[in-house]
Amino acid sequence: MLYKKVEDAINAQINAEMWSAYLYLSMSAWCAKNGNPGMANWFEIQFREEQDHARILFNYVLQRGGEVKLAAIEAVPTEWKSPLDVFEATLAHEQKVTGLINSLYALATDEHDYATQSMLKWFIDEQVEEEENAQNYIDNLRMIGDNGYGLFMLDKELGARTYTTPSPLAGK
Ligand code: MG
Repeated sequence: MLYKKVEDAINAQINAEMWSAYLYLSMSAWCAKNGNPGMANWFEIQFREEQDHARILFNYVLQRGGEVKLAAIEAVPTEWKSPLDVFEATLAHEQKVTGLINSLYALATDEHDYATQSMLKWFIDEQVEEEENAQNYIDNLRMIGDNGYGLFMLDKELGARTYTTPSPLAGK
């Protein structure tokens, strides 16, 4: 069974992951409109991954005999100034999500909920990657500056990203 406090916090995290998905879908639309189809592809995959994060938590609540409660997803931003601005917003957002995951882990620790701590370890590792990826693209974009060829090449690289099912959802 799940402690009520932990169940409520995981339900809140499901909503945060769905908001992340919505944010990245919005970024994908902006990139497509701005003439960066590769970046649009990269954010579309982010969108799918965030839905996966929500599904991992969703499955876990049900597996522990808890109750999933889906709340409204708030509106997301729709405008950014540049590709660099989009990736800076991505890093800032992922840093916020890392804080949420850490708080959830701290709560599970306080409640002596070892199963939830174990499940959250995947998310802790995932956040390290999310922040690293966003930071790498920020570094690339700062180096490129206004160089059209550099932007073209980076867009091509981001366009090559393909979706892979995260391990907790493999076979589900
Ligand atoms: Mg996430």
